[in-house]
Amino acid sequence: MSGRAQSRPNAMQKTFDLNNIVRVSVLKLQPYSSARDEYVSDGSEMIFLDANENPFDNGVNRYPDPYQRSLKSLLAEQKGVSENQILLGNGSDEVLDLIYRAFCEPNQDNIITLPPTYGMYKVLSGINAVENREVLLTIDFEPYVEEILKVADANSKLLFICSPNNPTGNAFKKEKIEQLLNSFNGLVVIDEAYIDFSKDESWLSQLKNYQNLIVTQTLSKAYGLAGIRLGICYASEEIIGVLNKIKPPYNVNQLTQKRALERVMNQDLVNQEVQQILNERDELIKALNGLEFIEEIYPTDANFVLAKVDDANKRYQQLLDKQVVVRNRSTQPLCGNTLRFTVGTPDENKKLIAILKALN
Ligand SMILES: *Cc1c(COP(=O)(O)O)cnc(C)c1O
Repeated sequence: MSGRAQSRPNAMQKTFDLNNIVRVSVLKLQPYSSARDEYVSDGSEMIFLDANENPFDNGVNRYPDPYQRSLKSLLAEQKGVSENQILLGNGSDEVLDLIYRAFCEPNQDNIITLPPTYGMYKVLSGINAVENREVLLTIDFEPYVEEILKVADANSKLLFICSPNNPTGNAFKKEKIEQLLNSFNGLVVIDEAYIDFSKDESWLSQLKNYQNLIVTQTLSKAYGLAGIRLGICYASEEIIGVLNKIKPPYNVNQLTQKRALERVMNQDLVNQEVQQILNERDELIKALNGLEFIEEIYPTDANFVLAKVDDANKRYQQLLDKQVVVRNRSTQPLCGNTLRFTVGTPDENKKLIAILKALN
């Protein structure tokens, strides 16, 4: 007999059937077969006359690899998953949109989000005509587990957990997420856009224990590649198989694949930059602590700091007058009078701190 901690995920696996979650139209779908699907190069010299491309070489005259095999093979090795557990997209935004389109029946299913959180989940639910059920975080910015399970019903296909959370900055408690993974009957999407800045471990290692888990990451934050648009989805091979059926054939362009590969190979440089950003974050928090108009600095596991101020509109405008753009998050629930500061370079940080100290 296995222990208690083990038995719940296993029970979950027994009752979880992805076929009950996938849209019927997607289940039945025969995906588009591209030229690069039908003939996969093994690297030998071939004459390619199958895709109506311009034959004159300029570096990008050929269609890119639709399954981004080189990049996936590197990510698989680094993250300890199989290549068939990875889907890449044109930013996390495309990845998230594919998840809605694969699993949520318009005007019938619903998803659950936990505001204050990343705004795209709500926008995507609008685009896809899927009801967005909102359950506010508790006042200490943790998921309100009982309430989430109460609003969930048989049509609740997705639960979005952003951890570390944007805009609050904190990573959620492991027990809270575990409870949700064990009890929610749809898919649990953990958005780890900021995981590289967190002291907490990624949920990737738990993919083998939870058939209902999807983890998304991105090269837009710690990896410094927001401009190339590369989002990553990790899940069971079964879930990735469904998403592969509906993704546009050439959704990640060749220039993006190339730049991403170079950067992911250069992990040391990424780690160095992350460490520098974390040092600067500490400096910023120290400086904010000493300011009269700062009322609260929230704990952060990300590359930004959320702070409550005396008058967010006034402070936002004052910073703008000094050519500094921060994000006013005051309209978000539980975030009245808050500003979100992204951590910049040491030089930018020094300037910001000097400007903040001179405000009155
Ligand atoms: C910035 C961010 C992303 C990144 O989206 P991309 O489309 O990959 O640039 C995803 N999720 C959250 C919560 C973010 O803050």
